[in-house]
Amino acid sequence: MTSTRDGAGTLAGVQPSLRAWLEVSRPMLIGGVPVGDAPPLAVEDPSTGLRIAEVAIAGAEHVDRAVSSARAAFEADDWRWLAASDRGRLIRAAAAVVDRHSDELAQLDAIDAGIPIGLSRELIAAGVGSLEYAAGTAARISGDALAPSGLPGDRFGARVLREPLGVVAMILPWNSPAAMLLDKIGNVLATGNTAVVKPAEQTPLGALRVAELFAGAGLPPGVLNVVPGLGSVAGAALVEHPGVDAISFTGSTVTGKRIAAAAAANLTPVSLELGGKSPALVFPDADLDAAVETVAGNAFLLSGQFCTAPSRVFVHRQVFDEVLAGLCAVAGALVVGPPLDPSTTTGPLISGAQRERVLGLVGSGLLAGARAACGGDAVDGPGHYVAPTVLTGTTREMAVEREEVFGPVLSVTPFDGIDEAVRLANDTPYGLAAGVFTGGLATAERMTRDLQAGNVWINCYNAFDPALPFGGYKQSGRARESGTAAIDRYTQTKTVVTAT
Ligand code: NAP
Ligand code: MG
Repeated sequence: MTSTRDGAGTLAGVQPSLRAWLEVSRPMLIGGVPVGDAPPLAVEDPSTGLRIAEVAIAGAEHVDRAVSSARAAFEADDWRWLAASDRGRLIRAAAAVVDRHSDELAQLDAIDAGIPIGLSRELIAAGVGSLEYAAGTAARISGDALAPSGLPGDRFGARVLREPLGVVAMILPWNSPAAMLLDKIGNVLATGNTAVVKPAEQTPLGALRVAELFAGAGLPPGVLNVVPGLGSVAGAALVEHPGVDAISFTGSTVTGKRIAAAAAANLTPVSLELGGKSPALVFPDADLDAAVETVAGNAFLLSGQFCTAPSRVFVHRQVFDEVLAGLCAVAGALVVGPPLDPSTTTGPLISGAQRERVLGLVGSGLLAGARAACGGDAVDGPGHYVAPTVLTGTTREMAVEREEVFGPVLSVTPFDGIDEAVRLANDTPYGLAAGVFTGGLATAERMTRDLQAGNVWINCYNAFDPALPFGGYKQSGRARESGTAAIDRYTQTKTVVTAT
């Protein structure tokens, strides 16, 4: 079985240079060297279920080599000791190379993860923006010079320096492979660290291509290593490796807990960007058309496989019917189809297993008394499609209302007063994001105060910016990765007292 024959339908639509890249079994990248001495793993296009490529997958020994390479690069003269402006310049150069290849990366994420091409382009462009921001971070790192209060000032001077952590292990999910690495890697590198990246098993291609592009931009060998592989093998080996100084994990809450437990053995610091069950609250004084467009647009974005998806929608009873009808109208107008078709708004789920899981959660909700106002079942086709679904009558007892579905499914529930809205919104172990739609300042302020979420969007949703910290409350995560928070996250302080 060859990748070219199986994937011919998909690959017909991709640019020739990318097609040629996919024809060759892709090696890992360790210390700037392609490493292919490992078993191959097939990579499928979720819109066809067909094989489009294969990659070499890492065992524990490859992970060990990658960590050693990252360590050597960290200790070399040409990375952490570079003038901050030079390190920033290299990251800016990488951003420019990525930008020149942005169409190719957008196509790659589209066929690997099933992301509609228009959205894929937007995500890659946002990733380039994050890199450009991070290039400036290199020169924004600063420490403190203090006159200590307990030590005589004429003899003692004190400084608090910020130093990189060392080797950062990055473990990534499958929902936006190249784009997410672009979003996160800039700050890891700008602060002088080196990285070993383990992409998700289903989507290893984007990280490999990004690392090649960074090498082409002049990043020193070993600063960015990529080891595709299984979570239970390569992921576990990386997390448990004593040579790893910090872990940046993005993925599900279940895996995040496992990783935090494994990291505890070496007291390796972990930042966790985890799942969510985010609420959107629609008040009667909102611009209802805009609220409906924004909520539905973001709930079905990436077929709901987006960590911040507003999957629980709470609507004031006065406007419930109108909002429900609007959400179904938007859902019904979505074009479900293959990612490279420019008219597609909603692609497939990542795998057959994920589709079964989503349909199982919806089905059990329907059996328990929920109603599908629209959607509720699979869409025919070779790919892993599920129809955009709006549920009513869900209760907290139903798994579909409690658990992260990670599919194109939202539930709509009425509320009567603001206290009830707050209680419903916060009644979840997650706390990643929340959206509030209202024309009233007092309502907006009250919700801002009371919502337990790391990101609150008022009359907007998924409004990201590389300058703004992002992360979750409660079981949606720990630590913040972007904005100024990234400097805290990826450096440690060294206090120096000098006596004269
Ligand atoms: P996942 O199953 O938790 O996997 C995430 C990564 O962890 C994958 O690379 C996986 O490898 C690896 N892994 C699994 N077990 C491991 C272990 N024991 N040790 C080390 N690594 C291990 O998540 P996913 O299904 O890929 O992604 C969807 C989830 O990500 C959702 O819950 C979503 O909300 C979350 N997410 C969060 C954010 C955020 O910023 N908050 C952003 C995007 C996605 P394999 O691929 O081999 O299993
Ligand atoms: Mg794939």
